[in-house]
Amino acid sequence: MKEDNILEENKDNEENENIGNLEEDENSKEMEIYEIEHNLKDETVYEKSIKVILLGDSMVGKSSIIRRICNGDFQNSIQATISIEYYNYLVKVNNYIVRMQIWDTAGQEKYDSIIKNYFQSTDFAIYVYSIDDKKSFDRIKFWISNTIENNSNNDMKNILLGNKKDLSENSRKITYEEGENFAKENKFVMFKEISCKDKSQEEINNILDVFDNIAKYYYKLSKQRSSTLESESFDYEASNSIIELSKNYSKKKKEKIIKKKKCC
Ligand code: GDP
Ligand code: MG
Repeated sequence: MKEDNILEENKDNEENENIGNLEEDENSKEMEIYEIEHNLKDETVYEKSIKVILLGDSMVGKSSIIRRICNGDFQNSIQATISIEYYNYLVKVNNYIVRMQIWDTAGQEKYDSIIKNYFQSTDFAIYVYSIDDKKSFDRIKFWISNTIENNSNNDMKNILLGNKKDLSENSRKITYEEGENFAKENKFVMFKEISCKDKSQEEINNILDVFDNIAKYYYKLSKQRSSTLESESFDYEASNSIIELSKNYSKKKKEKIIKKKKCC
């Protein structure tokens, strides 16, 4: 695992310059989606829509995670999320499409009472803290109790992400082990440290893997149901921090499609 990967400021400036093209990018992604869906018309396509919610204090990097997966970039200064908004993100696994509605929430306390109204029917809750912010880690407990209290879906799965691992070891307040132990104790299905700032392919894949694994989970579930297998367990794989959902699943066959639509 890469621990200390501080990127140079000039690289970030380069990335910020791309922001002007967002609308164009969004249109081309919409087109790509249309084409893929159109081409799939003749195949048997199974679809599953799920709700994923990103939770955690403000400034931990929730919106940056969405930016990284939907736009493929990073902003040094990103507009604060007002209340709640959602994005659509599609992952295709063979002939199976998982449509994720990813809800991005504001971490500020003044929005707490509004946000909890949106917890209903959440399939996956992704809790985010920043590795240099102890309070954001301590507050994960608060976010968990809030989600459980306000979500009727008993099958909801939890994922824990420690963001900003690119920061120097001196600024780190939460060790990797502390994050991992917390995830295990609370029966989370996945724990990872990530960096939205690090634009190396390895780190980008690290973040995309979180959402790929969610899609693979539903793919595996559909396979199990169709072959009337019993187990629907979602195993926590502590050794590599990635959920092993389908051992036979070949990464090469994977085709990822991305759709971003800011709706509210
Ligand atoms: P949110 O309030 O949880 O949505 O957090 P934001 O995504 O708005 O990010 C808050 C701040 O942290 C912004 O200034 C981001 O540029 C910064 N940030 C986000 N992710 C990272 C990261 O991985 N590393 C570093 N160093 N900064 C980050
Ligand atoms: Mg935000």
